[in-house]
Amino acid sequence: MNVYGLLGNPVEHSLSPPMHEAGYDALGLDARYVTFEPARTELESAVRGADALGISGLNVTIPFKQEVLELVDSAPLATRIGAVNTIAFGEDGPQGYNTDAIGVVRALQQHDVMLDGQDAVVVGAGGAGRAAAFGLADAGAAVHIANRTVERATELAADVPGATAAGLESLTDRVPAADLLVNATSVGMETADTPVPAELLHPDLTVLDAVYTPVETRLLRDAAAAGATTVDGAWMLLFQGVEAFEQWTETDAPIDVMNEALRTQLQTSP
Ligand code: NAP
Repeated sequence: MNVYGLLGNPVEHSLSPPMHEAGYDALGLDARYVTFEPARTELESAVRGADALGISGLNVTIPFKQEVLELVDSAPLATRIGAVNTIAFGEDGPQGYNTDAIGVVRALQQHDVMLDGQDAVVVGAGGAGRAAAFGLADAGAAVHIANRTVERATELAADVPGATAAGLESLTDRVPAADLLVNATSVGMETADTPVPAELLHPDLTVLDAVYTPVETRLLRDAAAAGATTVDGAWMLLFQGVEAFEQWTETDAPIDVMNEALRTQLQTSP
């Protein structure tokens, strides 16, 4: 049997185990997905121990995504983003990947959203913002990063090819001219707040909200009312998991099955 899992703290409410296990079951794979919650001081022992025990792969979540980078042999994209969310254990030792960036891109491609040559605004410069900015820029979009803390946006933009950065006030000019808007802040999580005023949204815009609790955020409701195309955060969550699944099993993931397993666990509104 192959054992996969999630390393984080806390991981008690993770949606990943049922999503991955539905995928294994659909493909008849003899595999299980379990959660691990080591203390911060035990992270290195946990990664080494997983390798020694023959665990096949681990996802990594808060607060370990940055620290794990130092403990594995990281793929170039994970190194550029500065975070690892997937480890594959093999003969060459633990290899680190970042599937959040490709998760953003695949979530949008699933909805037939074109990225090459498009103007994208990423709101937020934390972990999700970094992944979105690199993913979109690598897919050919021109990326503007707007963040509450301007220095953080500026630092990120310096690493992302062709990106610009400013504070949240830049949304007023940028969003009406944009093709794509990604909310990568936590605004709207468990609340009815929105990071972007509704009057800036328009029918030529695609809006991806990284927030998935609830799935239907106020931003997405405002976007739909403005005639924009909407992509919810569960799609991003799904595709970061699908990418990890495919990395580990070297098999196409059963996307519909995994999507259904994920969505049955998610609440739709606050
Ligand atoms: P993070 O690293 O802590 O970053 C939080 C971001 O939100 C920062 O840019 C922060 O701005 C901004 N922010 C927080 N409160 C704000 C406020 N009141 N007004 C304006 N900006 C505010 O968190 P993260 O890991 O990037 O996660 C952000 C969101 O994305 C969370 O809701 C998380 O659940 C979601 N997420 C979803 C997926 C997915 O697969 N769908 C994956 C990862 C994360 P400052 O820099 O100014 O503090």
